[in-house]
Amino acid sequence: MKTQLVTIPARRGKAARVHAGQRIRVVNTHGTQVVDAWAFNARDVTEWMSMEASRARFMKLAAAVGDAFVTNQRRAILTLVEDTSGCAHDTLMAPCDRWRYGLLGVDGYHDNCRDNLHAALSELDVLVPATPPSLNLFMNIPWTADGRLAWGEPVSAPGSYALFRAEMDLIVAFSACPQDILPINGRTGQTTEAHFAIE
Ligand SMILES: [Zn+2]
Repeated sequence: MKTQLVTIPARRGKAARVHAGQRIRVVNTHGTQVVDAWAFNARDVTEWMSMEASRARFMKLAAAVGDAFVTNQRRAILTLVEDTSGCAHDTLMAPCDRWRYGLLGVDGYHDNCRDNLHAALSELDVLVPATPPSLNLFMNIPWTADGRLAWGEPVSAPGSYALFRAEMDLIVAFSACPQDILPINGRTGQTTEAHFAIE
């Protein structure tokens, strides 16, 4: 089968259409890059992958191989079928947005995952009038027994990946997170490209 390899440019987003049964491989090309991910029902984009409904489905803070993410209508949308990243992909944190960077002291515009999502969708002539919670691939948010969270540094090896199976016809969108203030993309503040393939 021919594989379509797509670049998610550094600090930018990219979206694609995926058929039910196809697999989506998201590659952490340089090992340090968080990739925010969204999935929408291709026939009704108001049905999207829901982090809160997914946690209620698999009863964990993060998915393990074999677990299915579900939509805001509680239907399976993406199943994690293979994962070489060694990372508990974060389901808790909202995608970054212009206001988040304002709170972090940025004066003026800063690239952000929220705007990257909508720009990527618009390249497919898709409009989603909301910003659903993101699945934050390769994002290390460790938790403690008393429920405290931290902004962890990346733990994945270069070239490691997460592989998903599409459970319905989808539009998927990814953002190479431009967060360069917190250490989630590494202490250097350097953000990089990542890749995905529809297989
Ligand atoms: Zn981000």
